[in-house]
Amino acid sequence: MAVSRRDVFRWAGAAAVAGGAVAGAGGVAAAAAGGAGRWARLRARLAGELLLPGDDGYEAARLPFNSLFDHQRPAAIARCVRPEDVQRSLEEARRRGIRVAARGGGHSYAAYSTPHDGLVIDLGPMNRIEVRPDGTAVVGAGARLGDVYAALAAAGRCLPLGNCPSVGIAGFTLGGGLGWVDRAFGLTCDRLRAARVVTVDSRVITAAEDRSPDLFWALRGGGGGNFGVVTSFEFATVPAPEVLTVFRIRFPAGSAADVLGAWQPWSAAAPDHLSSTCVVLPDGSVDLTGCSIGPEALLHAELARLGVDGPLEHAEVDYPTATAIMTQGHPPRNAFRASSRISDGLWDDPAAVAGTVRGMDSALLIVGALGGAIDRLRPTDTAYPHRGAPTSVEVFGTVGALPPEHVTREVDQAQVELARLIGSGTYINYLDPEQEDWAETAYRHNLRRLRAVARRYDPDGVLRFPQSVGAR
Ligand SMILES: Cc1cc2nc3c(=O)[nH]c(=O)nc-3n(C[C@H](O)[C@H](O)[C@H](O)COP(=O)(O)OP(=O)(O)OC[C@H]3O[C@@H](n4cnc5c(N)ncnc54)[C@H](O)[C@@H]3O)c2cc1C
Repeated sequence: MAVSRRDVFRWAGAAAVAGGAVAGAGGVAAAAAGGAGRWARLRARLAGELLLPGDDGYEAARLPFNSLFDHQRPAAIARCVRPEDVQRSLEEARRRGIRVAARGGGHSYAAYSTPHDGLVIDLGPMNRIEVRPDGTAVVGAGARLGDVYAALAAAGRCLPLGNCPSVGIAGFTLGGGLGWVDRAFGLTCDRLRAARVVTVDSRVITAAEDRSPDLFWALRGGGGGNFGVVTSFEFATVPAPEVLTVFRIRFPAGSAADVLGAWQPWSAAAPDHLSSTCVVLPDGSVDLTGCSIGPEALLHAELARLGVDGPLEHAEVDYPTATAIMTQGHPPRNAFRASSRISDGLWDDPAAVAGTVRGMDSALLIVGALGGAIDRLRPTDTAYPHRGAPTSVEVFGTVGALPPEHVTREVDQAQVELARLIGSGTYINYLDPEQEDWAETAYRHNLRRLRAVARRYDPDGVLRFPQSVGAR
């Protein structure tokens, strides 16, 4: 069932009204006085802090990355320091029938880790990372990608991860995890070997290929917030590459049709060591960036086949430096609307694809090459279904001074048009609360099995949210 606009705005709109009331004069103090009593039981049972409206630290701790959702005010935030805190929090949520959500890095596009009037299970303090001599990394679910990059680099190891260092490893991995060396090493979830999970009935279990295999399958691409709360992940890392060449070519306004026309077949045929992304702006300019594992001569050989020319900036660097370059430039927070489509095959009309954002005020396209190691697994091997798809296109609109509805309209218009032009798949980590066909298109042939896993692990919909796999 598609989530309707009414459902989404029932949350966002009600939250805005209620949030305004709570934040009004005297509201915080009143809410705090009434709230503390109701939360005394949980507070006494936690080793970590419980933050309520009015407490020091509550205002900073509640904010999601996407500031369009700042009006959402959780009733309480449990800063968990151990799995038992997660167990106690889930018990409390079940006992009182309140909305509850886990939070890793807080980057959910629709702020689903910040339930209005609900309980946030904040894994932030559980961010320990251990890299074992055999290359296995045990990563606490509160770690951010930046922490993981740093700990692995210090041990000479690598995991395929994304571009924004403040994104949480939890939401990122559970949705799949697309990154800048994924064509060489696969999705982040492909390197997951086990996860510790607190189930909604507060059992602590390990999900792995040979233990709770249905849950383990679902955790690899089934999307954050479903099935249970992960407290730690165990990944098989690879040795960090010794030499990489990062590069950028900027093409001028009006060139997008030609650049995408050349880039698409080139990126699809590229060797696995080469990943690249085109950012297409409304004026038709293109920023092509990427990373080739190996010395610069390897990149030059590939670029000679690209078929469009532009001023090349590049650097042959070690892995920590490549990471620093590929993850730079993200603001600490942002107000944005976004959506995505994943292509069924090679698209026929690159000019039309570029045209989906032509002249828009905000929306741009982030067109990334998939394939390579991502396709070494079959579409049913993990819950991530898009094996074999050559490209992912994210539509991204920063709100800035524009009315949010205007940006929403632009993003929506572009994603509808892209579905017609390239295929209707969508990526669960770029979850769009406006997209009517999100469940079928994000999970495809895996949707039925995911729903069965959700029914098994969360039969009463304790973890439900407007775009959850199970009960909503
Ligand atoms: C600036 C930015 C850059 C991004 N770049 C990329 C990218 O390069 N590649 C990519 O694939 N994605 C990218 N994303 C998308 C990102 O992967 C998703 O938004 C992801 O869900 C964020 O995870 P989080 O832990 O930070 O978010 P949260 O908001 O904390 O969590 C997201 C969802 O997962 C649930 N969740 C969180 N922790 C747990 C847990 N421990 N157990 C169970 N459920 C949990 C939450 O309840 C919520 O539903 C980006 C997002 C942003 C905002």
